[in-house]
Amino acid sequence: MSDRPRVYRTEGLILRRRNLGEADSVFTVLTANGAKLDAVARGIRRARSRMRGHLEPLTRSQLLLARGRTLDVFTQAQTLHAYRGLREDLERSALAIYCAELADRFAVEQAEQPGLYPLLLAVFDTLEAGAPAQVLRWFELQILSLAGYDLQLDACALCSARLPPAETLLAASAGGLVCAGCRAAAGAGRLLGVPAIKVLRFARGASLADFASLRVGDDLGQQLEGALGDVLRYHLERDLLTSRYLAAVTRLSREAPPTASPDVE
Ligand SMILES: [Zn+2]
Repeated sequence: MSDRPRVYRTEGLILRRRNLGEADSVFTVLTANGAKLDAVARGIRRARSRMRGHLEPLTRSQLLLARGRTLDVFTQAQTLHAYRGLREDLERSALAIYCAELADRFAVEQAEQPGLYPLLLAVFDTLEAGAPAQVLRWFELQILSLAGYDLQLDACALCSARLPPAETLLAASAGGLVCAGCRAAAGAGRLLGVPAIKVLRFARGASLADFASLRVGDDLGQQLEGALGDVLRYHLERDLLTSRYLAAVTRLSREAPPTASPDVE
């Protein structure tokens, strides 16, 4: 028996939707405490559904949910911020959807991650206000840090040696920049020039507004996008493998016949 209340209220950002049956949809929501949840909206694909406009992806809403046996059910939804400026602009909506997907991948069901919700709100607000696409790099660095994957950018991630101001390898598996002497041991990576390294170091401690006002040229922007993309792929694939492994182990232990328990004296 659970003593959790049957109905609960939460604020959240709608990350994505998928259709269920003929008229229902399941929405993935990042809640204000940084956990994510999946819940079903019954009949939302019918024209007369009152919740329809309040559960669009990229909307910030106040939600009332009822606990269900498998999935919780939305009983009320009220828009707090519709982010129309994002949703009605093709490029901006693509940037925001990318951020929502990253938050979805890093969030964990029923596990609070304070900081994740304000981080996503901040980047949505800034994108809606017209910030350049480079703010995604700031978001990526911050979300990596929240997840405990801070990049080592000040010294060699493997031997702690000082890094001269020169082209340096960023190796995801090593956890950051790697000195010339450690390159062979660092695994795959990407050579970054001094300007790219400076931008990463700045992004780590800068406010979103300060980072948004930094001038980043196209070449440099692409270099940073590639480098952080490598790091994100490395961590997310590793996490996925871990969760796949856990799921497989759980399935095996369920399917295995109960082992004979040893006699207890
Ligand atoms: Zn080193």
